[in-house]
Amino acid sequence: MQRNFIGGAWVEGSGALRNVNPSDISDVVDEFSLATPAQVAEAIAAARAALPVWGAMTLQARSEALDAVGTAILTRREALGRLLSREEGKPLPDGIGEVTRAGQLFKFYAGEVLRLAGERLPSIRAGVEVEVMPEPVGVIGLITPWNYPSSVPANKIAPAIAYGNAVVLKPSELVPASAVALFEIMEQAGLPAGLVNLVIGGAEVGEALATSPEINGISFTGSTVTGRKVAAHAVANGARVQLELGGKNPLVVLDDAPFDVAVECAVNGAFYQTGQRCTASSRLIVTEGVHDRFVEAVAERVRSLKVGHALEAGTQVGPVIDERQLAKDMSYVDIARGEGARLVAGGERLNRDTEGFYLSPALFADTHRDMRINREEVFGPVASVIRVKDYEEALEVANDTTYGLSAGICTTTMKYAHHFRRHVKAGMTMLNLPTAGVDYHVPFGGTKASGYGPKEQGRVARDFFTQTKTSYLLED
Ligand code: NAD
Repeated sequence: MQRNFIGGAWVEGSGALRNVNPSDISDVVDEFSLATPAQVAEAIAAARAALPVWGAMTLQARSEALDAVGTAILTRREALGRLLSREEGKPLPDGIGEVTRAGQLFKFYAGEVLRLAGERLPSIRAGVEVEVMPEPVGVIGLITPWNYPSSVPANKIAPAIAYGNAVVLKPSELVPASAVALFEIMEQAGLPAGLVNLVIGGAEVGEALATSPEINGISFTGSTVTGRKVAAHAVANGARVQLELGGKNPLVVLDDAPFDVAVECAVNGAFYQTGQRCTASSRLIVTEGVHDRFVEAVAERVRSLKVGHALEAGTQVGPVIDERQLAKDMSYVDIARGEGARLVAGGERLNRDTEGFYLSPALFADTHRDMRINREEVFGPVASVIRVKDYEEALEVANDTTYGLSAGICTTTMKYAHHFRRHVKAGMTMLNLPTAGVDYHVPFGGTKASGYGPKEQGRVARDFFTQTKTSYLLED
């Protein structure tokens, strides 16, 4: 039985959850002890107590501790990647890739520990100087989703502690094993007891964290509906909040697109990692000159994708995360059909040697921007094509969504590429690249219903994880 990590000790909670391999439901990854609301409060108190200890350590020691976590993750990336793929279902190379990113994030923020600068300015008053310095925010609650079990927690923990805060993480109840493994590594890295705490559970444990008046901030990644609930609690308690939410990301393909690149962008962006990426290209918006050829080429590639066990060599698309998500994905296949969309590939539950949640990637054509399939996030291997007349209509359709996370365009015309970059309403834009797949050292996040508050990643992470203090000094 895996336990919670509170105040530097592994502690049992009450009740248990079973973590099942979505590629093979006969394989139980592990059992996990659920944190109680009282233990969530204990974790928050332990984090509070660790703040001055962490603050008293030298920057050198703090930087080295983060670097040590990064090194340990990278050293063990094969085993950690295997564990991740076993519990989440993404193909093994992607699991190892994600863990690698987690290690790189710790190393990046190990450097940022030493680069946290303020500024000194002359005052508008004679003989006065002004100094503006960043300070830690305090205790931060972190709530994370199941689709990135390693890199999303790392993307929050590393900057939070680099900038002097203490944290309580509640990972998704569907993927607690990767979180436990990360905490085992952090336990060995010379961090003070209580600086990082892990509470395992679902919505109830998340709510205990989000509603606590003892936290100073919440960084949440997950669905828009849950994120807004969490934000309401945080605001009621005067805690700051950062939300990374869902998407309905467009990939625009113009007549002059580099054809093979565009097909690859669509297949990768829509279906890799089973389409379970917030940045997945779920809307393929294609101009009429290339439309039919493009649909045919993408459908051919989609039909040839190897769907299978995440740990099997050659698997390109793993299973859906669980039975509930699979039912949701399949319900959207029915909804799209009912709305008159044409299913050109996939959309069927598949049997494999092991019993799992396998779905053949589904591609719809002849869809309209107002259909539910083009308005609601499915979060599975389901994408739809919308035919448009020209670039202007493509941009209008791309922006016709409540979401605004990532948006891509495939074209060889610089005029359209530049125009799109400036006018598409999204936090990230891609030219001749898939909408999913980002660097770790630059800002990440969305606008509109896809994000709220300061962005994550890169140096801007400090906007959320620090607060400024302005000091006035009278010179003598
Ligand atoms: P979810 O909203 O169901 O759950 C996210 C987390 O919130 C989980 O840890 C869950 O246990 C917890 N939670 C659930 N109810 C809660 C409550 N009432 N109070 C507090 N916590 C609660 O999302 P999910 O299904 O785990 O993840 C998929 C979603 O995440 C998709 O919408 C996807 O687009 C989004 N996502 C966004 C990003 C991004 O960076 N923008 C990245 C990955 C995933």
